[in-house]
Amino acid sequence: MGETRHTRVLIIGSGPAGYTAGVYASRAMLQPLLVQGIEPGGQLTTTTEVENWPGDTEVQGPDLMLRMEAHAKAMGCEIVSDIITDLDLSNRPFTARSDSGTVYTADAVILATGARAKWLGLPSEEKFKGFGVSACATCDGFFYRGQEIVVIGGGNTAVEEALFLTNFASKVTLVHRRDELRAEAILIDRLMKNPKIEPLWFHTLEEVVGTDNPLGVEAVRVKHVKTGEIIEIPAKGVFVAIGHAPANELVKDVLETHMGGYVVTKPDSTETSIPGVFAAGDLTDHKYRQAVTSAGMGCMAALEAERFLAEQDA
Ligand code: FAD
Ligand code: NAP
Repeated sequence: MGETRHTRVLIIGSGPAGYTAGVYASRAMLQPLLVQGIEPGGQLTTTTEVENWPGDTEVQGPDLMLRMEAHAKAMGCEIVSDIITDLDLSNRPFTARSDSGTVYTADAVILATGARAKWLGLPSEEKFKGFGVSACATCDGFFYRGQEIVVIGGGNTAVEEALFLTNFASKVTLVHRRDELRAEAILIDRLMKNPKIEPLWFHTLEEVVGTDNPLGVEAVRVKHVKTGEIIEIPAKGVFVAIGHAPANELVKDVLETHMGGYVVTKPDSTETSIPGVFAAGDLTDHKYRQAVTSAGMGCMAALEAERFLAEQDA
């Protein structure tokens, strides 16, 4: 049995929303405790250049997140390397159990658990995960120097991953189910100008084909969405970039969710249906899902937690 620790504000998550909440709650003298989770720094640690963080024309995602962590720490936020495994929001103080065995109790909770990459759910995708199939180009792109690669998807992540992978690959085929990308115009422009990238429109991934011993990818079979015709494309790496789903496991049975699992907050607020529980960032945001909007919501959550605690104390 681990120790029990009490905090006024427990922040769960260490992406832009969590760290910003840490900065604001610290400056409100609430001595917050932030639990980082399995991905310290959140999703931006899986990318390279970030070009839309105000104040930085270009910054590396992992560097930006280290700076946010240092900022929160410098303001007085306690940052703990741990994972919350269970959250009881039925009584105050709220109780969070963790992987380390420590039990955290808190007068207010800020949920900032973000989002995680989605998978297609194909048996062959599952079979080759970690052996040629990946959802993180910056983590795994290096393994495919001089090889042919396929990226699945048509959003910002897919286009950025395709562009990044041209640093290693001899050719990148971007397989998309429509003939229109939902990525930002500036990224589409770069994609279209890159001689190593070939878009394949109106196709979906049917099967990843490879060897068993050793496990490894050799090709993908893709299907034309209109004609049903299946073709095979040689590839040593397959990067699935079909979007992200909110990481709502801790609260999906107790808080209202909508639009595929995003936690519902009150209009113009981070308040959830449980007083004292606030939600910020990609966990709640089905629309914008940007670092800057997540940080903005982290700020709101801390300010709202401060007001909530002041009312409790009054
Ligand atoms: P996340 O960054 O998702 O962080 C979630 C945090 O919660 C993680 O630290 C995780 O460890 C923690 N957590 C989860 N579960 C638990 C638990 N049970 N216990 C404790 N902690 C937990 N946005 C931009 O504005 N510009 C970009 O250039 C850009 N590039 C991107 C590139 C890629 C490849 C991806 C995937 C996303 C990109 N985004 C970009 C989107 C941006 O990363 C997200 O909008 C932002 O990170 C969301 O922040 P967040 O704080 O809500 O959550
Ligand atoms: P996204 O914008 O939701 O795009 C997902 C893409 O995958 C879409 O093109 C979608 O096709 C396709 N797709 C979804 N399900 C599919 C399936 N089952 N089979 C085939 N294709 C499928 O997700 P994202 O690109 O991961 O971006 C998530 C958020 O992070 C966005 O808000 C994005 O702006 C942000 N982000 C920002 C940056 C940046 O600012 N530079 C970089 C990365 C991510 P359809 O288009 O047909 O729906």
